Amino acid sequence: MTEPLLVSELFYSIQGESTWVGLPCLFIRLAGCNLRCRYCDARYTWEEAAEPMALADMLAWTAQYPGTMVEITGGEPLVQEGVYPLLLSLVASGRQVLLETNGSLSLGAVPDAVRIIMDIKCPDSGMADRNLPENLNLLRARSRRQCRDEVKFVLSSIEDFHWARQLVEREQLDQLLPVLFSPLRPQFEPQTLAHLLLAHRLNIRLQLQLHTLLWPEQTRGV
Ligand code: SF4
Repeated sequence: MTEPLLVSELFYSIQGESTWVGLPCLFIRLAGCNLRCRYCDARYTWEEAAEPMALADMLAWTAQYPGTMVEITGGEPLVQEGVYPLLLSLVASGRQVLLETNGSLSLGAVPDAVRIIMDIKCPDSGMADRNLPENLNLLRARSRRQCRDEVKFVLSSIEDFHWARQLVEREQLDQLLPVLFSPLRPQFEPQTLAHLLLAHRLNIRLQLQLHTLLWPEQTRGV
């Protein structure tokens, strides 16, 4: 019998990030996180008590939306061992499954059919020393197996931009998989990032959080 997972919220919304932006998506937001980023907009996932939920109940909820993409997010979903049976069950249901993860825990046990969107934490997050270097090699190996993963940098400043740019260039990440740069507003305006991306001729996608543009007043359930 699979252990229940601690869940912060389940919701149906528009995908606001990644190359899947704009598509309707089911979100399973798991509770708990092993990091404490300065800009965290999901503090409730690790500050508030969460309800245990059985795998069967989560699958029953997703079954109400046949064929819809589902994203497992957090918090940090990989802190709960029960996430793996959930991922396998969702893949077996024939859906597109996305996993959003903070990059500090090994991706080694994530099924190939799951599309990983991995954060690389920049210095201004306060968590850059928690990036797990072996994950880049795991993403390289997954890429050779035709997995279609993505990496995302949240940028709080021009200093973060240059740090991320140098890492992308050093690791040749943009030749491996889609790279997303997401500016943290208002301290780092999208126009500034756009100018920098063009000035440096980078093959990197500027990502705005679509859900924050659609529903600027809502902090949960979008
Ligand atoms: S990894 Fe995500 S959920 Fe965890 S503290 Fe950082 S921003 Fe918040």
